[in-house]
Amino acid sequence: YPITTDMATLTKEIEKFATNKKLEIETLKIRENYRKEFIGNVSHELKTPLFTVQGYILTLLDGAMEDKHIRKKYLNRAEKGVERLIYIVRDLDMITKLETGDLNLDREEFNIIELVQSVFDLLEMKAAKKDISLAFDMQYANPILVVADKERIQQVLTNLVVNSIKYGRENGTTEISVENLIRNKVIVRITDNGEGIQKENIPRLFERFYRVDKSGSRREGGSGLGLAIVKHIIEAHNEKIYIESEYGVGSEFSFTLEKAK
Ligand code: ADP
Repeated sequence: YPITTDMATLTKEIEKFATNKKLEIETLKIRENYRKEFIGNVSHELKTPLFTVQGYILTLLDGAMEDKHIRKKYLNRAEKGVERLIYIVRDLDMITKLETGDLNLDREEFNIIELVQSVFDLLEMKAAKKDISLAFDMQYANPILVVADKERIQQVLTNLVVNSIKYGRENGTTEISVENLIRNKVIVRITDNGEGIQKENIPRLFERFYRVDKSGSRREGGSGLGLAIVKHIIEAHNEKIYIESEYGVGSEFSFTLEKAK
């Protein structure tokens, strides 16, 4: 530590040192609380499906195994629980990588129209179960080339479309559009006419584990991490994400991407 004979300077230096230390300690405390909260959230998220799976196994061991139909039904439900656990762990893994900056983007040039189409193809069955139609304006005969991490953007699209189905109404519609923005950007919009989100909940939507309706979201098989992952991926690309929603009417999530030159 620098030695100085001037008492006033020394006092100032000591005060500065103390303030810095205090700030450092404050930062460490915040980090520690964040870590504790994260672990608390994770165990809470894992508990429900774990107890569900255990419940079915115990009932099977208790004699339900004898009945062929019940056996199948309970095994199916236990399997669903395990599937949920896998999704949660996969999302946790992703969010940890994104938050610690361990996920390098692999940028490439690709046709966003084709990617939207492939996401729709993959989610068609899920949408059909709720009679939701997935609409993609067919004006896009020509490819629109963007530069981004294709796999990550596929995940963004998947999470947003899955949400529009989960929180969409029976017989509803999810629509995607891709538009040129000024300069070298495009904007991708995912619009649904589902349950919508109340104004006061919108600012917290992108927080991890935040849900408007906890039981509804869990019933739909969500981890509460989908939108946090979406936000991280878009921000890692230095792009922007927007949300507009009206309660009872529907929601629109949109994000920008860089156009290929
Ligand atoms: P979850 O796994 O709960 O779906 P997300 O992070 O993907 O987690 O979403 C957080 C919350 O935002 C959801 O629980 C839901 O309340 C709300 N939400 C997300 N997308 C929509 C949507 N399209 N319409 C209405 N609410 C939505």
